[in-house]
Amino acid sequence: MVILAGDGDFPALADVGGTALLGRQLAMIARSALHDVLVVTGSAAVGGYCGDGERWGLAVRAVAPDQVAALLAETAMILPGDAVTEVDLDRFLEHHRRHGAAATLLVQPSDHPDQGDLVVGAEDGRVLGFRVPPHVGDFHNLAWTGPAVIERRALNGNLSIRAQVERLLSAGRPVQGYRSPEYVRRIVSADDLERVRADGTAGLPDRLSLRSPQPAVFLDRDGVLNVEKGSVTTVEALDLIPTAPPALARLNRAGFRTPVVTNQAAVARGLCSLETLDAIHARLETGLAAQHAHVDRIYFCPHHPDPTLSGGVPSLLVRCECRKPKPGMVHAATADLNIDVARSWMVGDSSSDMGLARACGMGGILVRDGHGGRDGKSSAQPHVVVDDLADAVRFILDVWPGLSVELDRLAADIKAGDVVLIGGLARAGKSLLAQCLSLRLGQSGRAGVVVGLDNWLKSRDQRGAGVLGRYDLDAAHQALTALARREAPVTPPRYDVWTQISHPGREAVTLAPDDILIVEGVPALTQPAWRALATRRLYVATDEAGRRRRFHAEYRRRGWSDNAIESTYEDRLRDERPIVLASRAHADAEITLDGLLG
Ligand SMILES: [Mg+2]
Ligand SMILES: [Zn+2]
Repeated sequence: MVILAGDGDFPALADVGGTALLGRQLAMIARSALHDVLVVTGSAAVGGYCGDGERWGLAVRAVAPDQVAALLAETAMILPGDAVTEVDLDRFLEHHRRHGAAATLLVQPSDHPDQGDLVVGAEDGRVLGFRVPPHVGDFHNLAWTGPAVIERRALNGNLSIRAQVERLLSAGRPVQGYRSPEYVRRIVSADDLERVRADGTAGLPDRLSLRSPQPAVFLDRDGVLNVEKGSVTTVEALDLIPTAPPALARLNRAGFRTPVVTNQAAVARGLCSLETLDAIHARLETGLAAQHAHVDRIYFCPHHPDPTLSGGVPSLLVRCECRKPKPGMVHAATADLNIDVARSWMVGDSSSDMGLARACGMGGILVRDGHGGRDGKSSAQPHVVVDDLADAVRFILDVWPGLSVELDRLAADIKAGDVVLIGGLARAGKSLLAQCLSLRLGQSGRAGVVVGLDNWLKSRDQRGAGVLGRYDLDAAHQALTALARREAPVTPPRYDVWTQISHPGREAVTLAPDDILIVEGVPALTQPAWRALATRRLYVATDEAGRRRRFHAEYRRRGWSDNAIESTYEDRLRDERPIVLASRAHADAEITLDGLLG
């Protein structure tokens, strides 16, 4: 293990969060299986600081550059001495050994790729060369940030690693890239020092570390990062959604892993070659980088399950394990990026993204952009519905931390097999509360199954008077009773909000004895028989002005005119509000999401 600490005391001895930078590096090495460290320095103070390394449990020697060659181990890991680094060194070394390369470079997306060299890499992770600025055209945002593993025989006794790597490349020797999301930040200026101190206070180095599983925000591509256009098959057709890059940059700064998981059946259909797809992804990365945002990796499924597709690429017309909602890409990302899937999110515009979220036990956030979930590929419900990625990021970073505390408070009083009713006025946030409660229960190893009473809304021309006339209460009652008693599977009807027509259901709901049944809807607390089934009765209270705003927004999205919306709103104030407000008296707890819903 070699640390290139430089000639002076700065930044090796600069204070970063109460510890000298060099001390942080030695502490990190002490957490790995590595033990012998050469600190290459011309500074007596740096040498004095390390001593023999005993206080880190390491064997450290401070040496001059010309002494290093004779002391190197066969495989040397080299760290820049001017970078705050939090890397799982064992994993890095393992990657080097597995690929048998002459050298392996730690590569990652750069926040400022315009200012530095980029690595040109091959599909299999081989490094092909370096690209120096100015970078003209599109590029894959991948830079070498300094850490390297190199074979002693390849090093030639020369510690100028970049020059050695160039020599290896021109000799055709294998140089591998090790893609890591981990924290490596050079300190060149006082500003850099301030920034790494702030990052340390925020816990960013630990959150980015591969040493422990960390949450990710899995991102669908089309409809989330770029405009959904049916199929993007040329570089020119890729248009970034303007609000996406700044939102992604927020996720990057917060330390979330950000893998993209995208179905690209256009490849199987013969509409887009793998080379074109790669060029499209280079354009995507370039556009994101221009706004200091990056995705950790892009996983794509090039397959299509129909073997008879005319014009298709025969080898790709297969039933695979990676086409969403199948979880293959999530599994690959989880292995590559050490992801804590249960604390992760999937942001997508398609029902198959929500199916993937459900299949993996992640929180599913549906964006109204793109397909807006209306593609009918899966019946999986989202946990949260928002306008776009920017709103999804606001939910994850600003809403969820507080909401999850509230949910834990509620969940503490809920036992296995309970029946929870959630009532309240339309647009109060009942469905969000129900879905997020079930998500939170799932994160603590329990299962909450949400049943929405809106499934039993009658077709428009079948409705009786008032709020209770809009629902098929008898059918809902039979279903809820059967579910609460865990008798038989129930197949709720489906109400289509766009056409206002009720259809026969397709998906059966089955409850295990321990599953928690969560029933949400406007009439949830209005029926004495349902209240008798329930062990918990929650009322979602809301401020009327905010509710009216959300009511208008929802019906505007459904294509209603402002007049129709307002008169419906007024009707409901008369025929719905008094009955629902009266049901509030039967609740044993009240909760409000105002302030969270905006
Ligand atoms: Mg999409
Ligand atoms: Zn696939």
